[in-house]
Amino acid sequence: MTLLDTDPDAGLAPLQFQVMRNLQAKSAAERDAILANPGFGTHFTDHMVDVCWSVGGGWHRPQVKPYGPLSLDPAAAVLHYAQEVFEGIKAYRHADGSIHTFRPDQNGRRLQRSARRLALPELPVSYFIQSLEELIAVDGAWVPSGENQSLYLRPFMFAKEAFLGVRPANKVGYYVIASPAGAYFKGGVTPVSIWLSEDYSRAGKGGTGAAKTGGNYASSLLPQSEAYENECDQVVFLDPDGNVEELGGMNIVFVFKDGTVVTPQSDSILEGVTRDSILQLAMDRGHRVEGRNISLREWREGVASGDIVEVFACGTAAVVTPIGVLKGRDFVDQQPVGSLALELRQELTDIQYGHAEDRHGWMHRLDA
Ligand SMILES: *Cc1c(COP(=O)(O)O)cnc(C)c1O
Repeated sequence: MTLLDTDPDAGLAPLQFQVMRNLQAKSAAERDAILANPGFGTHFTDHMVDVCWSVGGGWHRPQVKPYGPLSLDPAAAVLHYAQEVFEGIKAYRHADGSIHTFRPDQNGRRLQRSARRLALPELPVSYFIQSLEELIAVDGAWVPSGENQSLYLRPFMFAKEAFLGVRPANKVGYYVIASPAGAYFKGGVTPVSIWLSEDYSRAGKGGTGAAKTGGNYASSLLPQSEAYENECDQVVFLDPDGNVEELGGMNIVFVFKDGTVVTPQSDSILEGVTRDSILQLAMDRGHRVEGRNISLREWREGVASGDIVEVFACGTAAVVTPIGVLKGRDFVDQQPVGSLALELRQELTDIQYGHAEDRHGWMHRLDA
């Protein structure tokens, strides 16, 4: 059984994509040179998905076309009012050459929730998954086969109608681009340092914190630069009551001495697929898992007393990253180093790369 069985859009006929090949596609040698050292988010494949939506016409004109600049009217609503949502999901090459992705139904549903919050149309989950398959059908050779490498897929949707009035756009574009990915953090899986944002918050009650939308990232950039100025890699945000929310683009998880795993729960946090999966794997090992408020005070006191034995961040791009230090304006707290984060990371990536049994039915083959 897949989750799609309960999707109201299940049974929709697939879109009929028009495929236009890129005549200037990179040669195999050029591609291999990029895949040997892909970095993160700097190289893109030869093609992209482009689907239109309009109030009268619904989803239409589905295309796979050469990767390249979009032509937008300067009055396109997204440029003024940020009506935009996106996703991030990876394609993994298995040892037999086949290409798989991880829980795409979850990302498809999250894109729908994000779209609803931003007053954008909800792309059927089956179209979402099909869009990934269509791109892989032409750009499958871009899925690297090196260790911990993947092809990062970036679906996104925005208001392209040209108007300056403030209302939901009547014309929207849905796209998927893809970028080969090596390790997200330079230097591999070493603990990251976290800057506590004391002046800025990421989201508020009733805001857009639970949606994957560019505006949340725009508002995290200034606090993120503050983190860099203080020699930290990432920033962590609190809610107005002093509860920990998440990092700029990753969820946070705390491991307690008695084995309990705690992650903040609030409707202003982006619900990560990685977090959900890691917590499932922790439960499978017999850990108690709690989604609840955890205050900065509980964090700092827990680390000081030894009650908290490990803190880590998780998300698709970086997978799982231990947190080594929490720094605020007037304190520096070293974080305890444990082994659970890296064990769960290994277990998850073993499933994703086909080295371990997919006992939860999370993998979806993209190239068949
Ligand atoms: C995408 C994202 C995450 C991680 O979600 P995954 O599904 O695990 O990739 C966490 N926080 C924010 C703000 C995000 O945008």
